[in-house]
Amino acid sequence: MPIIRDIPLSLKTKEVLRRAGIREHSKLRSKAETSICELLASVDEARLLEPAIAYEIYLITKVGKRQVSLEDNISLHCSLIHSVFPQAKELAVAVCTIGPKLEEKVTDHFDRSESWQGMLLDAIGSVAVDSLAREAYGDIRRDASLHGHQAGSPLSPGSPGFPISEQWQVLNLVPAEEIGVSLASTAIMIPRKSVSMVIGIGPQMTTWTQAEVCARCSLSKTCPYRVQA
Ligand code: SF4
Repeated sequence: MPIIRDIPLSLKTKEVLRRAGIREHSKLRSKAETSICELLASVDEARLLEPAIAYEIYLITKVGKRQVSLEDNISLHCSLIHSVFPQAKELAVAVCTIGPKLEEKVTDHFDRSESWQGMLLDAIGSVAVDSLAREAYGDIRRDASLHGHQAGSPLSPGSPGFPISEQWQVLNLVPAEEIGVSLASTAIMIPRKSVSMVIGIGPQMTTWTQAEVCARCSLSKTCPYRVQA
């Protein structure tokens, strides 16, 4: 069961601004850019990021309309796999986290009524976990290509067709506890800045960009976090 640590993350100010919901023509943009630079330096100095990835690859024995069956009589309730990766041969399951330190610092800022710093640091954490998920996907895609396969785009519990309750099964399928990730009773991951995903592997997998997801999203007209092509 692969566990990867010490992963370099790309944290771009523009991405932090997007995650903080600060738009291009906002009057706050210049002040935010300065604060983000200072916060990024403090994140480095205090080593607030502890990125880690746990992943495992399972053979798929059957892709049904409502669930996918894996080796060792494991099943995952997800209708998306049938609709987007019906020809998948394997399923990669991954959990990624940046650890608890950054969100503890966010809480400190809010407790001290420093909501500006708290909000921007929280956005830095979101960009860090996004970047980590991209790293995990890149590793899985490279592994797949070594076997002449492709990796489809990641799917996460909580997406339409993939109930959030499946988060319990997803965390059973990787050594999540070894990277310090657990679930609250609501199936939300602890630390909060964590992400789980499954990736279909096989010949000719379907992929999509975040901009394509946002373009199809019902919130795209108002969502401050949307990604445009
Ligand atoms: S537009 Fe939809 S998919 Fe895109 S970031 Fe916003 S909520 Fe997420």
